[in-house]
Amino acid sequence: METRYDALALFSGGLDSILACKVIQDQGLKVLGLHYITPFFGKPDQIAHWSRIYGVDIMPVDISSEYLDMLFGDLTYGMGKLLNPCVDCKILMLNHARAQLEKYGAKFLISGEIIGQRPMSQRKDALNSIRRDADVADVLLRPLCARSFGPTPMEKSGLVDREKLPHISGRGRKEQLRMAKEYGFTEIPSPAGGCKLTEVENSARYFPLFRYLDKPDLNSFRLANTGRQYWAGRNWLVIGRNRSDNERVESLARQGDYAFLVRDYPGPFSLGRNINGEAWSEEMVLEAASFAASYSGKAVSSGEYVAVTVCGPEGEREVQVPPTREDSSFVEETLEGLKEWKIEQDGKKEPTRG
Ligand code: SF4
Repeated sequence: METRYDALALFSGGLDSILACKVIQDQGLKVLGLHYITPFFGKPDQIAHWSRIYGVDIMPVDISSEYLDMLFGDLTYGMGKLLNPCVDCKILMLNHARAQLEKYGAKFLISGEIIGQRPMSQRKDALNSIRRDADVADVLLRPLCARSFGPTPMEKSGLVDREKLPHISGRGRKEQLRMAKEYGFTEIPSPAGGCKLTEVENSARYFPLFRYLDKPDLNSFRLANTGRQYWAGRNWLVIGRNRSDNERVESLARQGDYAFLVRDYPGPFSLGRNINGEAWSEEMVLEAASFAASYSGKAVSSGEYVAVTVCGPEGEREVQVPPTREDSSFVEETLEGLKEWKIEQDGKKEPTRG
């Protein structure tokens, strides 16, 4: 049987989510942190460490599949500055957490949101929309800013003492840092949330998948998270940066992909894929082999053509190529490309709510 808790918390590992748990624990209530995991956020390897240093029980919850459904369905509130659908994301997590209450015997949910802290998802109207659309109006308490809103059922019933809750608002972190000191935290998480959808470099990695596919799968995002990324139209080339990248890229290869390995010199594992599953032209295969070989320092220093083993849909063979990226059609996607794509998308869509 599952351990029983009084409250389930959205536990991202950020300072606000930790403090939200602590102030509820201070009222003698038992809290379980739900640490949501998708290809874009979540650090399951940190859970044991966090549990130990912050004194909170934490469970990993992988919602990758639901998350991709949400991201490539009709987003009600749209994306923020980059690819982050913050309001829809919060709605998804809270709605999911609500469905877990019974399993743990918990009576309510808590989240570390603070009114006015983030421009997209923590404005007063956004917080209200999240509470309504996630269907958690009767069970959600935001302990750090609850006093900026009317009392929740948990406060009205006396389960939580409203007067003992902090009263935080706005973008500053002063009060949170003071509280962290008072709790004696030996580690204070940095303010950057660790969500890749809000990061320029990672958003640039992902957006070709948004541009070319109706609904990219998990494998594509895992691949986009690994190694160096280059695109020539719909042809994608991923090159490992180190041994662990190489292993990961190799493990993500699937039927129809091309693998490139320099034969006589140490070099990375490189994977080629047409995003629509089409075969590559011979010219493209040679270009990719050349490009991949340019990441082998010794192959480049040889000053000669080098042998690259190519394993693709037509079987395994060897090609001789110069190890160079000069004049290649493979390029890295950029923030400018992402911005253009977003403008295009915004032009196609109905205005979003919220
Ligand atoms: S920053 Fe990322 S994890 Fe946080 S609400 Fe936005 S999309 Fe979700």
